[in-house]
Amino acid sequence: MEARMESPRRWHRAALGLAAAAVATGLVVAATWVWASALFLDQTHTRALARLDLYSSNLAGALGRYQSVPTLLALRSDVIELFRRSRDPESRARANRLTETFNNLTEAEDTYFMDAEGLTFAASNWNSERPFVGHNFSYRPYFQDAMEGRLGRYFALGTTSGRRGYYFAYHVSADDQVLGAVVVKISLADIEASWTAKDEGVIVSDPHGVIFISSRPAWRFRSLAPLDDAARRAIAENRRYEAVDLRPLDIAERGQIGETADAAGARLLSISAADGGSAAEYLMVSREMPAAGWTVNVLASTDLARSQSLTAALVAGLACLITVLIATLIAQRRGRLVERIAYQRRASEELERRVVERTADLTAANLQLAREIGEREAAEADLRQAQDDLVQAGKLAALGQMSAALSHEFNQPLAAIRSYADNARLLIERERHAEAGENLSRIKTLTGRMAEISKHLMTFARKPRSELRPLRIAEVLADTLDFLRIRLERAGAEVTVIQADRSLQVRAGRVRLQHVILNLVANALDAMEGQDRPRIEIAVRQSDGKVVLALRDHGSGIDPNQIGRIFDPFFTTKDVGKGLGLGLSISYNIVKDFEGAIRAENHPDGGALFTVELPLLPAPAPVLEPA
Ligand code: ADP
Repeated sequence: MEARMESPRRWHRAALGLAAAAVATGLVVAATWVWASALFLDQTHTRALARLDLYSSNLAGALGRYQSVPTLLALRSDVIELFRRSRDPESRARANRLTETFNNLTEAEDTYFMDAEGLTFAASNWNSERPFVGHNFSYRPYFQDAMEGRLGRYFALGTTSGRRGYYFAYHVSADDQVLGAVVVKISLADIEASWTAKDEGVIVSDPHGVIFISSRPAWRFRSLAPLDDAARRAIAENRRYEAVDLRPLDIAERGQIGETADAAGARLLSISAADGGSAAEYLMVSREMPAAGWTVNVLASTDLARSQSLTAALVAGLACLITVLIATLIAQRRGRLVERIAYQRRASEELERRVVERTADLTAANLQLAREIGEREAAEADLRQAQDDLVQAGKLAALGQMSAALSHEFNQPLAAIRSYADNARLLIERERHAEAGENLSRIKTLTGRMAEISKHLMTFARKPRSELRPLRIAEVLADTLDFLRIRLERAGAEVTVIQADRSLQVRAGRVRLQHVILNLVANALDAMEGQDRPRIEIAVRQSDGKVVLALRDHGSGIDPNQIGRIFDPFFTTKDVGKGLGLGLSISYNIVKDFEGAIRAENHPDGGALFTVELPLLPAPAPVLEPA
């Protein structure tokens, strides 16, 4: 029941734990992504700034090499002379050769002379397919700047050559009169071609945001932002990008990073490919070059930073998952441990409960036992009381028997004495003194015999003392047989006593022990009633610290089926009025009082054998015969 209740709770807990782990992992992944992105984008930013420095100085160096060339040419006197005679065909031819020579020396793209109206009267490419000679470039700002006394600088798509170039121009003057301008055009294609880094783009844009130089050809002549009308007009006036469609790049702003007080930040952009392919993300850093009139931009790809951030986030997520896994394992083990402890506690509680139950059972059993012992003791006390009563009754019965026997014993001699006395009186009256004397001596004999009986009665009638004393068994036996002599004689019985040591002593009560022997002899005589010569054998011996008195008769023996009951009170096989069934029962108790035992068996050669065992008194002490 408990286990079934626990299961859904555990599932609930597991689901909660899983959700918590997922949320935690998500948070860790997101936080790591944000943190790593910032870190790696910052690194990209730093790298891009370094590249920007490099490209800027690269460009500045390239331009710087040519910057002073037109000035140097314009100051030469032969050049001034050629400008003076710019309409003379021979001078023009010389001028063409001069420009060509210079152009070859400086490795510029084109070198040419323009007169005050802007007409090109000599050019290094005079001999090429599309020579500048005869073209008027007065619309170019570099010409206007030069004519006004400044160094003209400009970049534009050549209207004649169709090639992009950077122009330097300087005025030629004589006698405070400006005669025209010397122009040097350099190519930017070579520089552009040297920018081959794959993970970054380099672009140079004009003040309107039109890309003039780009390491990616597709971005060339695209604008970083849509051009407004004013910008379009200005571009058209200078004919900077004649016959080019200036479309804006598809740029989405993603934000700005790394802005500080003294360093411009970087713009995060995504630029879609011209063919509508997937957009790429870039980090753009820019630097204006005011002298050149353009802005250099480095577009560093964020792919590496993004993939590094993704890796970091994944690693963090994985670490988080592993941590969760380990935590789960630990929690599970802990859970199992807790369960085991709980199980052990339950087991020990169960054990304690059983011990308590068993103890209660034992206590109940003990109480029951104590009660039974009490009942048994009460029953024993009752029995003892009953036995005491029976002993009393037995004594009374014996007294009755003895009274009957005594009256019989005394009445016969008394009747004989009376008739002897009557006869003696008659014989004395008749003076037959001798016969009278005979009668008197017979009377004397009879009274002597009666005195003898009386003497035994005195002994027998002694108040039985409850205390025990040392007794010689031989003497007790002799007294008892003496007391029984008349009955034995009448029955014609023969009693044989066998005893080697007449000094064996026991601790007993004299009268009670006599009663036991008397009873055994009387029972033996009863069993042999009708026999002409009943025989009784009595043996007294010592055995194992005991005195053994064995009495055997030659009667009918005891019925084996009844041998176990003959010591029971009131068990008798004799006729009514003859036996009370108390003799053996009383004898049994008397012997027990003397710490001895009595048992009955049948002799193998017939007749009953009764054995009385009493503890032997070790040293024969002086026997104090009662007075
Ligand atoms: P009672 O002699 O009054 O019957 P006892 O207790 O002395 O009572 O004897 C009980 C019975 O034991 C007798 O009735 C008799 O059946 C049996 N018994 C006792 N002694 C002998 C014996 N010597 N031989 C045969 N039976 C005996």
